[in-house]
Amino acid sequence: MIATIGVIGGGQLGRMFALDAKRMGYGVVVLDPTPHSPCGQIADDQIVAPYDDMQAIEELGRRTDIVTYEFENIAIESVRYLERRGYAVTPSSAVLGITQDRLLEKAFVRECGIATADFEAIERIEDVRRAVSSVGLPAVMKTVRGGYDGKGQWRVDSLAAAERAFAQARGAALIFERFVHFERELSVICARQSPERIVSYPVTENVHDDGILAISIAPARVPPGVAARARAAAETIAHGLGIVGTCCVEFFLTPGNDLLVNEIAPRPHNSGHYTIDATSCSQYEQHVRAVCGLPLSPPQLLRSAVMVNVLGAGTGNHLSGVERLLADPSIVLHVYGKKHAVARRKMAHFTMLVDGPIDDAALERARAAQATLRWVEEDA
Ligand code: AMP
Repeated sequence: MIATIGVIGGGQLGRMFALDAKRMGYGVVVLDPTPHSPCGQIADDQIVAPYDDMQAIEELGRRTDIVTYEFENIAIESVRYLERRGYAVTPSSAVLGITQDRLLEKAFVRECGIATADFEAIERIEDVRRAVSSVGLPAVMKTVRGGYDGKGQWRVDSLAAAERAFAQARGAALIFERFVHFERELSVICARQSPERIVSYPVTENVHDDGILAISIAPARVPPGVAARARAAAETIAHGLGIVGTCCVEFFLTPGNDLLVNEIAPRPHNSGHYTIDATSCSQYEQHVRAVCGLPLSPPQLLRSAVMVNVLGAGTGNHLSGVERLLADPSIVLHVYGKKHAVARRKMAHFTMLVDGPIDDAALERARAAQATLRWVEEDA
């Protein structure tokens, strides 16, 4: 029987997972190097240690009945260690190995029969010229491992720019991807437990700003056929991975309505925050259910939603304007409890609930609501 869940990673995704896990009666122990992490503030206890500290990983395994993780840039060795020692851990190291590596991930998606942008691997400077001629320009070069929120990425329009990006990567393995002139970016959250048990959420439409998610709109403003194809592709990928837990598949929608998979996240995802307030069962609760062997809950979309990320500005740690924001009863605010509002750090989000489809007026209202928020010094 599972009574206590271990989480590697103490960020906001772990926090929202812990909130649901605690509500459902589970104990939570989190491992994160920063004391009093966003998840640690909710969990029963936090082990303060690096993610690859094997003694700490051993302690997490010993003190919990199953271990999961809230982001994929942890050391795969930590997950392998737990598996070798016979501790329950999910998603498996096989899933993590694929989703940590952009080349393996794209090859895997293609093996599932699902399209991606054209790509080539780059290891040496000679590979750059070959990739430019085989994949074409413009392109995006990304580190194969470790990048997130647009970090470790270069958009390149010429061979010279690609060679410069190669130099800036300082020897890191790279993927050279065709730049996609997409119509929209979409994502689908799935939760899978077994070949028979899988659920997926309505497709979300995502707007990025400089590589970081800014706004998610649910349901996405796409034809029903596109939404059905995206959900089917995401479920095929989740089954192909054999994942136990919540995952997210991100897509580019081309002007010809083709779907190209960009990324897979083997965990709850920022674009699924809206599921807390706008659906009958959040992506975090589905993750609890999946890892604890409980039935998954086919999610009902209760209202349409616009989710807006609130990023740090680097100028103050106190969020002002909340009173004005919450004067709108359709808005639900989630603040992550991070001490320092470092520039462009994800600090909070709000979800605006809307009756009927999301139109330009609703988006305008969400943007105006966002503009009421400011980071100020505490004593300002
Ligand atoms: P990623 O880290 O791969 O999710 O990339 C972050 C963001 O950069 C994506 O959400 C897109 O907005 C943009 N991006 C990444 N790859 C491409 C691509 N091949 N073509 C166009 N835009 C891209």
